[in-house]
Amino acid sequence: MLGKSPAWQDAGGACSGYLVEGDGRCLLLDCGNGVFGKLRAARDFTQVCAVVISHLHADHFIDLVPYAYALAYSHQARAAGSRPVLYAPPGARETFRRITGAWDAEELIEQAFELHEYDPAEELALDSLRVRFHEVPHFIRTHAVQIRADGGSFTYGADCRPNDAIVAFAQDTDLLMLEATLEQPEEASCRGHLTPAEAGEHARRAGAHRLVLTHMSADHDASWARSEAERTFGGPVELATEGAVYEIPR
Ligand SMILES: [Zn+2]
Ligand SMILES: [Zn+2]
Repeated sequence: MLGKSPAWQDAGGACSGYLVEGDGRCLLLDCGNGVFGKLRAARDFTQVCAVVISHLHADHFIDLVPYAYALAYSHQARAAGSRPVLYAPPGARETFRRITGAWDAEELIEQAFELHEYDPAEELALDSLRVRFHEVPHFIRTHAVQIRADGGSFTYGADCRPNDAIVAFAQDTDLLMLEATLEQPEEASCRGHLTPAEAGEHARRAGAHRLVLTHMSADHDASWARSEAERTFGGPVELATEGAVYEIPR
């Protein structure tokens, strides 16, 4: 767990960023603000073989910018001699060009990484790690991500409003990580996030074996959030903390 903050990071914290490791492969799931520094504190960044981005909100991808500079200019990256593969949602190339084009570096990200816009209908295979996607409703096109290895599965709901898609996609998963951004449901007609109680209810319906809540501000009352989620999940719930490690049973 490199970062678990919502769109503004906690003091000393980072937004969404999760390192997934299995069979010697190291994959970074989302790369929000603050994540690249956390990655460097935890691992040699040149050892990450792939980066997977759930959606194109800044708190899920903006640290690809410093990451790309490190890949382009650092002596560590030159010594490693290989580029990580970047799996990003359809349309990502154009979004990255617009952002870094603001300072005339349009191709910064696509040159630093081996960029692929994934097809959410297709499964990715990174040796024994299998990565699947499923679209979930949010403010922009967003994909839940499931990673399987040796029979164990980890499902990440990304950002989403209440929906049935994540319930079906996460069915019987070993570890489900859902956002619980809100203290109260949004009053706007178009919702985009979950409360802790909604996250717990979705996890119960999915039959998830274990639930971790993420995308939560340190300003929220953590014990209230946990008890809300445990009430609807019907079992113990964990709150994401930076540096935490979760093992998926085989
Ligand atoms: Zn979002
Ligand atoms: Zn977010």
